[in-house]
Amino acid sequence: MSRRSEVIKSYAVPVKAPKDLIDAYLEVKRKALEAVIAYVSYSKGKARLRLKAEERREIRSELLKDWPYASHYIDSAINSVIGLVKGWIKLYNRGKAKRPPEITRRMVYIKSTLFRIKENKLIIRIVARRRYLEVDLSRFDYLPRDYDSIGGLLLTDDRLYITFKRSSEPKEVRGWSAFDVNEANVTEARDGFGVIRYDLRELYHIHRVYEEKRRRMQALRRTHPKRSRRLMEKYGRRERNRARDFLHKLTTGIVRELAALNYGIILEDLSGIKERTARRGRASRRIRRRLSKWDARTLQSMLAYKARWLSLPVRFVNPAYSSRTCPVCSAPLKAYRGRLMRCEGCGLIIDRDEAAALNLRMRGARGSPERGGSTEMCPREAYVHK
Ligand SMILES: [Zn+2]
Repeated sequence: MSRRSEVIKSYAVPVKAPKDLIDAYLEVKRKALEAVIAYVSYSKGKARLRLKAEERREIRSELLKDWPYASHYIDSAINSVIGLVKGWIKLYNRGKAKRPPEITRRMVYIKSTLFRIKENKLIIRIVARRRYLEVDLSRFDYLPRDYDSIGGLLLTDDRLYITFKRSSEPKEVRGWSAFDVNEANVTEARDGFGVIRYDLRELYHIHRVYEEKRRRMQALRRTHPKRSRRLMEKYGRRERNRARDFLHKLTTGIVRELAALNYGIILEDLSGIKERTARRGRASRRIRRRLSKWDARTLQSMLAYKARWLSLPVRFVNPAYSSRTCPVCSAPLKAYRGRLMRCEGCGLIIDRDEAAALNLRMRGARGSPERGGSTEMCPREAYVHK
């Protein structure tokens, strides 16, 4: 069984996109949708798409008639429309489709046949042999250099989303590091280094600032509903971007150290995320819980894909009772004082986050760190950031 897998990283770079192409693409996608949807048939309340290859070719040549741009855009428009209609049919057949599908996003999917890389410049074909959009990747120092290939691109009015691919195979490591994430801090149990703490107060502060902004927005909602909604969306975007920047810095630093040590990463399997007991604070409980969940997941996935990018193995373990089990003798821990827990078996007094990180470390790779373990890997989708 090969454990080789493809790791992807997605980045956005600012561009001034050709507006005419984006307009035309939106229009042609709408036409394609109209054409494809004519081949949806209904019987006994179920929808089905019957589109033969030659009918598809007909749609294609019809759309190509007054299309001045490279013809690949038409193929990508038809493909994406077929995907959209198929997705809609699934919903419809389950009784979940509220409205017919619509094309609203000003976004062009650019297949790999439409661009090439030359001396670190991305050259995107707009009109065959005549017009190109050139993006100099070397201008953006945050972009990875150690990729194998570039996948599809997404172009919006002001941004180009680039997906970098790298095939990686987890290598043998010399040790492991386990991470326990909660809303106030990240606690790491690193072989040979003991417990390391990372403060998340800055992240908490970012959320508080925007919480405050949102609250002030409440008044505006009654008098200017449209403007308030637009501002809310803008604040939401900025808040996520700032939080993401913070998390990127933190995780890049951690993974760089682990790569130098040649250590693997052990993370909590959050697929059945446990509700962390939130600490008291002024921000509303609901929003705080939602954000801390988002933060925790984002942080975890950043650690995971950055580690995989560098071929470090990543393991996910069940976090159940990790902060309520003694890492020395496995007896139950009872609340002692503040964040401290006391072991009923051996009397050990330990911080609950430290206990959790140490337990995760043991669950992730049993035996001596040198020998590693044989816990199976749990493949996860790479985290994509924009
Ligand atoms: Zn104990």
